[in-house]
Amino acid sequence: MSTCDRAHRNVSIHIDLAAIRHNLKQVRKAAPDRKIFAVVKADAYGHGAEKILTALEDADALAVAHVAEAVALRQAGRIGPILVMQGFHSDEELALCRRAGLWPVIHNRYQLELIENRKMPDLECWVKFDTGMGRLGFVPELAPTVQRKLRAVGVEVKGYMTHLASADRENDLSTDRQIRAFKAIRWSGKADRSVCNSAALLARNDCPWEWVRPGIMLYGASPFASQSRAADKLGLQPAMRVTAPVTAIRNLKRGDRIGYGGNYECTEPTRVATIGAGYADGYPRAAPGTTSVMLGNWRCPLLGRISMDTMAVDISALPVPPPLDYPVTLWGHAQLGVDEIARNIGTIPYELLCTIRGKRTYLDAPVEGNVRQITANTMID
Ligand SMILES: *Cc1c(COP(=O)(O)O)cnc(C)c1O
Repeated sequence: MSTCDRAHRNVSIHIDLAAIRHNLKQVRKAAPDRKIFAVVKADAYGHGAEKILTALEDADALAVAHVAEAVALRQAGRIGPILVMQGFHSDEELALCRRAGLWPVIHNRYQLELIENRKMPDLECWVKFDTGMGRLGFVPELAPTVQRKLRAVGVEVKGYMTHLASADRENDLSTDRQIRAFKAIRWSGKADRSVCNSAALLARNDCPWEWVRPGIMLYGASPFASQSRAADKLGLQPAMRVTAPVTAIRNLKRGDRIGYGGNYECTEPTRVATIGAGYADGYPRAAPGTTSVMLGNWRCPLLGRISMDTMAVDISALPVPPPLDYPVTLWGHAQLGVDEIARNIGTIPYELLCTIRGKRTYLDAPVEGNVRQITANTMID
């Protein structure tokens, strides 16, 4: 059993395959006539890479970080190219790349040496250049050398790429510099090129190259922090809705305290719902009291600190309290996106999507319909 399905966990993660399909169409619209690497690293940003393959059938290729991820996708039946963005780290992984027909990204000297030693004539690969991210890739000046070495061992380079560090920021000069550096790469002969992540795809019109590499937008979250470019404004539909049950309801008095450290004190009589989710489920302990959950269509603010397996929310505004076990939405509600939670906590939606744990269920219809709407007769007093 994977840690995601531990039976004692209360958190439910509803994944909407139709939303992923819709978001892929939005990618096509934003990048017509270009080819798409659908980025499914980190278990498809927490959505379950193997389980969402059917929603990504129209993507030209997939992209993952590690060889093992790509091999698992092959075993799950995915055909066609799979880009391995960190490439191989050993002879064994190199052999796996060839056997599984993967496209490893070669980004350092060590990988070049492995290839030169093993001679891999029918290997297809990509080459990565570091144009300013400072993380992976050859310096652009090495392009002719890298190309010559790969040619000498008969490896076919399908394309070359770079990754932008700040494409999510508007008018960022470092992005301009990276694009200039990419354009200056000297490459002889035919090769495809790839630069755009979601942010560049949506915000830049000076990255016209053959392949795009969207990740976050496939899952219906925005790569941008600003509310003016929130997911719904970009035409994206959230693919993940996270719910957890109400496990207790308490009526507290003025002066009562809630949670570890007693750092929330009720300033008036307060009706509190305890929810069966906490930081052990990946909900960030750092969430401040300005963070909300949705109980039906009511927005309920957090009270006190997030515990390991529980959190408390203020339900005083509800006309009647919900029944026990009622599913509360932590994010993925029409009025409470993962973007908002991330902004509030000072992180990015990527981190929340990747770290939340719970029982995943997959549906192929809008997520909205899946959770009972709260009505007077589903509540008890
Ligand atoms: C993760 C990743 C992407 C996708 O980025 P998003 O911001 O999720 O669109 C693209 N390229 C590389 C190299 C990546 O690591």
